[in-house]
Amino acid sequence: MSYVNMTMLSNFLKISNSNRPLQRIESIFLLTRRTFSSHGTFDYDLAVIGGGSGGLACAKEAVNHGAKVAVLDYVTPSPLGTKWGLGGTCVNVGCIPKKLMHQAALLGESIHEAVSYGWEVPSPKDIKINWTSLTEAVQNHIKSVNWVTRVDLRDKKIEYINGLGEFKDAHTIVATLKNGSKKELTAKNVVIAVGGRPHYPDIPGALEYCISSDDIFSLSYPPGKTLVVGAGYIGLECAGFLNSLGYSATVLVRSVPLRGFDQQMAQLVTAEMEERGVRFHHKCVPLSVEKLESGQLKARWQNTDTGEQSEDVFDTVLMATGRYALTKALNLPAAGVTVVTESGKISAPTEQTNVGHIFAVGDVLEGRPELTPVAIHAGRLLARRLFAAAPHHMDYDNVATTVFTPLEYGCVGLSEEAAVARLGEDAVEVYHAYYKPTEFFIPQRNIRNCYLKAVAERAPPQQVLGLHFVGPVAGEVIQGFAAAIKCGLTMEQLMNTVGIHPTVAEEFTRLNITKRSGKDPNPASCCS
Ligand code: FAD
Ligand code: NAP
Repeated sequence: MSYVNMTMLSNFLKISNSNRPLQRIESIFLLTRRTFSSHGTFDYDLAVIGGGSGGLACAKEAVNHGAKVAVLDYVTPSPLGTKWGLGGTCVNVGCIPKKLMHQAALLGESIHEAVSYGWEVPSPKDIKINWTSLTEAVQNHIKSVNWVTRVDLRDKKIEYINGLGEFKDAHTIVATLKNGSKKELTAKNVVIAVGGRPHYPDIPGALEYCISSDDIFSLSYPPGKTLVVGAGYIGLECAGFLNSLGYSATVLVRSVPLRGFDQQMAQLVTAEMEERGVRFHHKCVPLSVEKLESGQLKARWQNTDTGEQSEDVFDTVLMATGRYALTKALNLPAAGVTVVTESGKISAPTEQTNVGHIFAVGDVLEGRPELTPVAIHAGRLLARRLFAAAPHHMDYDNVATTVFTPLEYGCVGLSEEAAVARLGEDAVEVYHAYYKPTEFFIPQRNIRNCYLKAVAERAPPQQVLGLHFVGPVAGEVIQGFAAAIKCGLTMEQLMNTVGIHPTVAEEFTRLNITKRSGKDPNPASCCS
């Protein structure tokens, strides 16, 4: 490898005292330096297509190890025309606005509960959300993150190209800029980190009248009575916060809610939502969405078991029917990169595609969890392997996740179904309990769905295979236990861990009833 190590160079420049002129020399050097390899001369050591979670993490880590890097990022507007800035899905139309709206929903509930704790709230019944204020606050935060991200790239001397990238050949990328002009660049290595976008079912009215998660967080009007199509992460999270914010929410479930997750836990999540007013239509697929003269939307759907058709009128229809990878615009055949035909995703078990110097990270990868920390970690490790000769590969096993529904669901490792399918029922022990969070005592909140379980090997030392928790702050609860599972946690170690009282996380340390025993898993008292 014959490119100059820029970290060493900039350290040398920093050591010397005359900072300003040398920094200028450094910049000039960066702009003019070309990188050489046995394949020829390139403008960059690394070009990253996609400035989202994975792409940005990879680019920043690469410059830390001396690489010269360019990042291309471009957002094609949603069918309804929504667009956003640099940073990808998580920051603009994903994790961040979703968590903020979830928090807004939780706060609304807290205002009502505060009354039970003695707060004198003027006519709590009249409390309502101001949708415009909420979306403005959320969008202002996002814009500040977009700005910080741009400054960060500039400070790190990563070239940011606001253009839609496509391959001309395996080392050449053409970016189409906003004004339609083209910019061509060559790179020794390329990382594809283009993520995905919402999929719309092929039914009349879907693209014309429906919104998706790309639109909801900046919607210029209150969503009103909303139909959510799809019962995955996004469908349930959106239906959950909309209902808690005071907008009627109905969910169409095609097969089961949260398919792929532990189904006992998924049932508890939806049971809680139902008890709070969300309506579910199971085994139903959408047929059409029609705009009425009133401006409202008439949606029709069909029960796939009975064939029965139904319809209702909504103010908003939100499609949450999965996401597709943005590989079409990349002209991958020009680079020789193959995609999985059915999904359009890229199969790259170690992030390396079938073309040796082209890599992929994040949501664009086939069979990998579509989660921000996964994209970030894989991107960083890849940059270290490419530019710091590091040996470490991404471990996609035991990645913890949380569904931010009104009662959250956090989990790590195997579901009960997956453990039984892998080891057989006799080899799996499930410890479980219902519990009552202390903070739920005074407002007398529903505790029917506060439940947790540990899925473990039955044979000693009973290695823990999966942990599942439905309740408040589930993400905060599960994160630390995820580290324990990575370290090979056993049930004996879990039971010997002293809890922190009174918390909901301590419930994991109190587990002692197995499902097999048939004993009552309901809580006896708060401190038993
Ligand atoms: P992205 O972040 O999608 O970035 C890809 C970027 O590349 C985009 O800016 C895109 O416009 C750009 N691009 C695409 N094609 C091109 C091209 N040809 N040229 C130039 N640029 C291009 N994950 C969590 O961990 N926790 C959560 O709570 C969570 N909540 C979510 C909620 C919602 C509503 C959604 C939609 C997702 C959520 N996710 C969550 C998932 C998370 O957002 C993604 O896993 C993560 O953003 C993937 O990162 P990425 O780098 O692969 O792609
Ligand atoms: P998803 O979890 O795959 O769910 C898609 C849902 O749409 C499923 O319920 C699916 O039903 C349904 N569906 C698909 N096509 C349909 C059709 N034609 N008609 C009716 N229903 C249809 O996808 P997602 O909710 O869009 O989330 C995408 C990814 O983003 C997730 O996998 C997750 O990794 C990430 N994400 C993470 C978080 C988080 O970490 N909290 C939050 C949001 C998103 P079937 O089950 O029958 O297929």
